[in-house]
Amino acid sequence: MKDIANTVNFEHSGKKITFHTLGCKLNFAETSAIGKQLLAEGYVKARAGEEADICIINTCSVTDVADHKCRQAINRLHRQHPDALMVITGCYAQLKPAEIAKIEGVDVVLGANEKFGLTELLKKYEKQQSVLIKHSNIRETETFRPSCSYDDRTRFFLKVQDGCDYFCTYCTIPMARGRSRNASVAQTLQTAKQAIAEGAKEIVLSGVNTGDFGKSTGENFFDLVKALDDSDAEIRFRVSSIEPNLLTDELIEYVAASRHFMPHFHIPLQSGSNEVLKLMKRRYDTALFSRKIEKIKNTIPDAFIGVDVIVGVRGEKAELFEETTHFIKSLDISQLHVFTYSERMGTKMLDVDFVVPPKERKRRSDVLHTLSAEKTTRFYERQTGKTRNVLWENRHKGGKMTGFTDNYIRVVQDFNKEQINTIQAVVLGDWNEDGTALNVKVQ
Ligand code: SF4
Repeated sequence: MKDIANTVNFEHSGKKITFHTLGCKLNFAETSAIGKQLLAEGYVKARAGEEADICIINTCSVTDVADHKCRQAINRLHRQHPDALMVITGCYAQLKPAEIAKIEGVDVVLGANEKFGLTELLKKYEKQQSVLIKHSNIRETETFRPSCSYDDRTRFFLKVQDGCDYFCTYCTIPMARGRSRNASVAQTLQTAKQAIAEGAKEIVLSGVNTGDFGKSTGENFFDLVKALDDSDAEIRFRVSSIEPNLLTDELIEYVAASRHFMPHFHIPLQSGSNEVLKLMKRRYDTALFSRKIEKIKNTIPDAFIGVDVIVGVRGEKAELFEETTHFIKSLDISQLHVFTYSERMGTKMLDVDFVVPPKERKRRSDVLHTLSAEKTTRFYERQTGKTRNVLWENRHKGGKMTGFTDNYIRVVQDFNKEQINTIQAVVLGDWNEDGTALNVKVQ
């Protein structure tokens, strides 16, 4: 382990910090909140290529691939900033602090509760020979920390909810993030208004189990949606992901008529086999899922629907994977997000004996990726010739700029600086050269 004596003095501000975030949008929002606190204290962001005094790595632990990527990131940042104080936090740090403390270069490991105390910790930090681990039981936490981040000042990610009480048998997130909790509707509205004042044109409502919003304040997600929708600002909202059992018909109908909520849904299916859904302890069956998709499509025919699915979980026998493929083929959806199962310590799924070999997990992932590409192509091609509102983003490459329509079609046009962060009605044309977006049709 590293001896950090004589390398840093944390009693003074003006130190250069670099941040590295892995995993979900919630992590990005939280890194942003921690960053804001530190910058307000006088720390500065290290510029690209500049050696930092402090490296903060916010980790993810959703699969063993995620753990591996975190270890790689720690090693890489330690090589790039050999004298920096290396602070590791996030889900991996909450779940396996001792494992992280053994990695060369790590100085401080902070659990999920402790990461928000980083500013105070740095003020009092004394040089140490050994790794400092600050970690507590997240299951007892009732505190909700509001956070908001942006990618290119066009799309903001607003953390509206944290934690989860569902305990699906393959998932470690409840152990890493604790119980379901949230700020009140009024407080969340205030954070959203702040983001709008900072220039947000689109806000993605993010959470671990977003639809569970309201549990700790006696409110519900629909209350939040209605409160946010009551705005005079030019703002678009998307819901990052919502459990099918929490996606009510009332909410779908509301989105259909809403000015601000976009016709875009992201719904975790995880498996198209009822037997596997039971093994996963999910709270719905395939019949409920189909009904939700039909309801969306009957109410908002052009809605984009993204669906999460996990392949290769324990107990997913060949015929059950076939059921999943068959079921997904029957759904009128736009895209799949395919995750390959990996065994996670401390989960109930490990009690299931039937194991899918890694090679077969990969094959199943390939099958569903192909199916997803077909679904996306079909969805995009049904949209050509239609007029949709695009929010142009601050990214451009090769003289082209991109944006997303209200129903989440990626579009491209010649770069025009004036149009960044503006919403424009366009007619959707053909595929662009590399088949990743639709061109805007020139009238
Ligand atoms: S709903 Fe299930 S999969 Fe999602 S975070 Fe909660 S326990 Fe994990």
